[in-house]
Amino acid sequence: MNLIFLGAPGAGKGTQAEIVSEKFNIPAVSTGNIIREAMKNGTEMGTKAQEFVQKGELVPDEVVIGIIKERLAESDCANGFILDGFPRTIPQAEALIEMGVKIDKVIDIEVPDEKIAERMSGRRVCPQCGASYHIEYKKPKKEGICNSCGSELIIRKDDKPEVVLDRLNVYHTQTEPLISFYKEKGILVEIEGQEEVADTTALTLKALGGNA
Ligand code: AMP
Repeated sequence: MNLIFLGAPGAGKGTQAEIVSEKFNIPAVSTGNIIREAMKNGTEMGTKAQEFVQKGELVPDEVVIGIIKERLAESDCANGFILDGFPRTIPQAEALIEMGVKIDKVIDIEVPDEKIAERMSGRRVCPQCGASYHIEYKKPKKEGICNSCGSELIIRKDDKPEVVLDRLNVYHTQTEPLISFYKEKGILVEIEGQEEVADTTALTLKALGGNA
């Protein structure tokens, strides 16, 4: 099963992608995580991407398309995958078609902007392994510490309120057109994402034909 998780930054697509990844045993591929890892390691791509990410802008299409091409060629994607945060523009969606990638379903998680701004102010991430938490909705076992690797959690630079507004603007202008793009193809499923994480998960699994 090849899936795309669509939604504004902070809509919870990463969390849902991880849950579905475990349940269906297919990898969740997050371009955001790949880019952050490259930034941390100071690779050429990471250095190129950094200025865009920190301003809340999208990294150029050719860079992320290159990342996805490489990642989807890895063996763990052979039996299916979840794309979390890709595509984010129409040219990126067209690149998937050109690559011959067939998408079964696009899960669009819908959350109003006000709720997103509130959620993102509470988001904390692990700078070491990329795990994501929330001070209210997805607390780590020990406050401020990553469950998986024990590192101290931080606020992502691009989760600061002023950058969040820019990211939402970018979402509405550049990414939202993908909703009609996939609706026309008859593979879009719209999911109400503003309640509890478990509610969104139940709706997502139902849409995928599984049980919560
Ligand atoms: P995310 O963790 O998915 O919110 O991604 C964090 C940042 O990485 C975004 O704000 C963009 O700057 C960049 N990024 C991630 N995925 C993409 C993509 N598909 N296209 C362009 N930029 C991306």
